[in-house]
Amino acid sequence: MSRISLSPVTAVTCNEQFDIIEQAAIHIDGSRIVYVGPATAAPPFVADETIGGEHLVAIPGLINVHTHSAMTLLRGYADDMALEPWLQEMIWPFERHLQADDVYWGTLLAICEMIRGGTTCFADMYHFYEHGTHAMIESGIRACPSAVLLGFLPEPERRIANGFAFVREFKDAGEGRITPFLGPHSLYTCNREQWAAIIQGAYDLQVPITTHAAETRREVADVTAQWGAGPIETLKSIGALDGPLLAAHCVYADDRDIAMLAEINAVQGNGIGPLRVAHNPTSNLKLASGFAPVPKFLEAGITVGLGPDGTASNNNLNMWEEIHLAALLHKATTGDPTVISAQQALLMATREGAKCLNLEDSIGTLEAGKKADVVLVDFDKPHLYPRHNVVSHLVYAANSADVDTVLVDGKVLLRKTNFTTLDVHQICAQASTRASRLATEHHQAVAQG
Ligand SMILES: [Zn+2]
Repeated sequence: MSRISLSPVTAVTCNEQFDIIEQAAIHIDGSRIVYVGPATAAPPFVADETIGGEHLVAIPGLINVHTHSAMTLLRGYADDMALEPWLQEMIWPFERHLQADDVYWGTLLAICEMIRGGTTCFADMYHFYEHGTHAMIESGIRACPSAVLLGFLPEPERRIANGFAFVREFKDAGEGRITPFLGPHSLYTCNREQWAAIIQGAYDLQVPITTHAAETRREVADVTAQWGAGPIETLKSIGALDGPLLAAHCVYADDRDIAMLAEINAVQGNGIGPLRVAHNPTSNLKLASGFAPVPKFLEAGITVGLGPDGTASNNNLNMWEEIHLAALLHKATTGDPTVISAQQALLMATREGAKCLNLEDSIGTLEAGKKADVVLVDFDKPHLYPRHNVVSHLVYAANSADVDTVLVDGKVLLRKTNFTTLDVHQICAQASTRASRLATEHHQAVAQG
């Protein structure tokens, strides 16, 4: 295991006090951070490698709490459509032709994009999840792949059992970097029996669940017709909030839902609460889903993280855009420029994202004892001068191309913008060839009716 010193850097720790340390040193021994503080006060440390510079700002690795990574193969395939026809006429028919290897390469393409942009951990939900997980393990990134269930596909019982087997096999795989979830797609794609089996499985296996909830008005109407109550209320009534549940979107969580969640959080008292929201501002804008009531969530003490969703509804995996939008969007929707400060937006992508994934003890901040998932941002760029406020720049001015170096679990995965574990040219070529084949197969199937 190597010993790496990041020094000198400006460390934006994202810890409880939100300490920002100029002229800092971050010492990494193996997979963990052993020191974060002023370089002048650092204990003696013999490093195998030192990376630093006045222009480098260290932040905790960005955490993407909701994505469908191998949808990179559908990037640009179907845009400017409403969610339901988009899914039913374009996305799901295209995906019917997917093979396991396609998911492997599509996931690798997503991982290249994420590492290049400073994402060090992501929650994934996609078909052939075992194959996607192999890509995660090989790349060195940290990930929470979920065993996804679309209840209308053939043999749902076998698929649920397969999901449980997946969780058992991959829990703590990749030197502990893999944390599997169970992933019932939604209340409108899985029925009562399927949800009951998955909730029981999550309890038995002690893993969280992730799903989509309250994304569109139509979903709320469909779920209410199918289940007799709206999505959030239904999740509560079926026991999905008895353990950790990461719910993407929650655009149509109403005031009653929020009050109910606040009450549950107050009783539970761990400061996180069972329902964690994956806020996907770009996806909600692109599909015209609406505006999630994020300021109300935060006021109610509900944990909120950020995700780009899949690249068919974004169309990139750029967390900087999600941070930027999260800080801007709610100012406009509430008419209040003081809501969602730069600090809150950055925390959603770091410390709060870690809570969304149940990983707050190991990632999300730059602190001694945490896993060394660190991103160095190059501030020697015209759009990042003068440096009045580092956090303001990170949220309102920086972008993914400013990421210089990325470490996950103490290993350098991107060094001065160059990948160390991935052959990006091969991955792009494989993804292109496979995406072309899938499009051809989809078109042929449509032509044949
Ligand atoms: Zn999604």
